[in-house]
Amino acid sequence: MASSKDNSSQPLACPLCGARSIFIVALEDFLYLECLKGHGSHKYYGRQKGSAPKPENIVRRLEDMFTAEQKRLFSRVTAAINETDGFARLPVHEQIKFLCAKCRCTEKEIYQLCKLITVFQNASGGGIKNGNKNLPR
Ligand SMILES: [Zn+2]
Repeated sequence: MASSKDNSSQPLACPLCGARSIFIVALEDFLYLECLKGHGSHKYYGRQKGSAPKPENIVRRLEDMFTAEQKRLFSRVTAAINETDGFARLPVHEQIKFLCAKCRCTEKEIYQLCKLITVFQNASGGGIKNGNKNLPR
């Protein structure tokens, strides 16, 4: 996962609760940080004290959040959903079970994919909760 937990010599703390950020997404103009409690915040790149250096690997689209293996799973999952009539009407636990069987993966792998999609949406301003109301659009 190129987008989280790497390239930081010092852990980036959550400005709201002080906890360590568990997801760090490098977008074009800023870093998006999300702590264990789900607080989202952002840190602009720049040379001023306290600003973050711009990393080399920038997340520009959802697929950039995934490892090569997760990208393959994501295509299998989206294909399975698109090919299956009535998928959306299944209860969530049935959807997960169905996807595990159809895509030959574990529930954990599906949940990890869902979490990365949620973090990407939060990072790019699609999800508004807690501290990230002021994200630039
Ligand atoms: Zn926090």
